[in-house]
Amino acid sequence: MPLWDVVIIGGGAAGLMCAIEAGKRQRRVLLIEHSNRVGKKILMSGGGRCNFTNLHVRPDNFLSANPHFCKSALARYSPWDFIAMVERHSIAYHEKESGQLFCDQSSKLIVNMLVAECQQAGVRIEVGCKITTVEHRFPGFALETSLGSVQASALVVASGGLSIPKMGASGFGYELAKRFGHRILATRPALVPLIFTEEDLEQYRDLSGIGLLAEIRCNNHYFAGGMLFTHRGISGPAILQISSYWQLSDELGINLLPGTDVLAWLTERQRSRPSAELRTVLAECLPKRLAQRLCKLVFGSFPLRQYSQLELEAVAERLQYWRFYPKGTEGYRTAEVTFGGVNTDELSSATMASKKVPGLYFIGEVVDVTGHLGGFNFQWAWASGHAAGQAL
Ligand SMILES: Cc1cc2nc3c(=O)[nH]c(=O)nc-3n(C[C@H](O)[C@H](O)[C@H](O)COP(=O)(O)OP(=O)(O)OC[C@H]3O[C@@H](n4cnc5c(N)ncnc54)[C@H](O)[C@@H]3O)c2cc1C
Repeated sequence: MPLWDVVIIGGGAAGLMCAIEAGKRQRRVLLIEHSNRVGKKILMSGGGRCNFTNLHVRPDNFLSANPHFCKSALARYSPWDFIAMVERHSIAYHEKESGQLFCDQSSKLIVNMLVAECQQAGVRIEVGCKITTVEHRFPGFALETSLGSVQASALVVASGGLSIPKMGASGFGYELAKRFGHRILATRPALVPLIFTEEDLEQYRDLSGIGLLAEIRCNNHYFAGGMLFTHRGISGPAILQISSYWQLSDELGINLLPGTDVLAWLTERQRSRPSAELRTVLAECLPKRLAQRLCKLVFGSFPLRQYSQLELEAVAERLQYWRFYPKGTEGYRTAEVTFGGVNTDELSSATMASKKVPGLYFIGEVVDVTGHLGGFNFQWAWASGHAAGQAL
């Protein structure tokens, strides 16, 4: 039975980075990926251009039951460390907005880079390999796989979360963690579009395709950015961000006109354009179809002179705080990440090692650390993979 220093389960961002670091330190590393290729999520990320990191990474870009857990790994592997690797491989990149770095060409270059680094570090990669059992046989681990039995001194679980099952996502890591006595903090889809209730669907589904800049609030968190009406609900960067903080029956507050004193503006328009209908005036700063729909459903549309001060106040309030109760999310089918996961209290924040089972490590998305949109999730995958790779 072949004996490896390290077996890594999962050939995604975290697993590949961990393999590179451990391999560079002369460990004999086997990386097992059950789908037909490594790095599938990297390939589909950032619209095919992989938003591979963010220049402004800070611990408060991450959600976790223990907000301090991510600090050590993030401090020891910064965006600049990953950028250095990208530059060594002559991959052209650019900053899109707010520190988000994307490839100029294709995500494929990032996967090729990671695979090349693995090869250079002597890592053996097996794709299409199914694991049937994992046993802890002190002092190591014994695995039964579709390629035969495997033994390893250390086992790294880098099997990711539940999002996008058709890309190979599985609950494998959570099940394995539970079997080894770890607690899993409740998981749910995050960075995910939200869907309308039946009533809202009826009223807004045909606004599908309309986009605007908005500010979204939920549970004392808020994000400003693009919001998009879809044929089932709402999406866009600001909605995806807030979805990580939203749970069933929570209220969302949507400001459709951020940065505008709407009452002052309406009052001024009432003075300067008293005969203009409300929907005409609202269309100056909202998408026309949205302005018309809100007037039809809520405000009415009369010449501005006919609105009392109280009525204008109500219009302004509604535009600045539209109370919205989504029916749910689009689920793991489209979620970018999984909220929750392996309880960080039972892991070392320096090495990602289990405090319960010697030689067992958890890295990447399977751990209860969830990044904001904008390259933060990959940075966590690189940093946690690096932390474990340095310790193996
Ligand atoms: C559409 C989309 C776009 C995204 N865009 C970005 C972006 O631009 N920037 C960003 O920072 N984040 C992005 N993300 C999030 C990012 O992809 C993840 O946070 C990151 O991939 C997590 O890395 P990971 O290695 O932990 O898990 P994964 O990348 O999911 O890798 C886990 C691997 O383990 C394999 N696996 C699962 N079970 C088993 C098993 N039993 N045996 C063997 N192998 C197994 C899976 O097939 C997979 O290859 C995006 C996600 C999605 C879905």
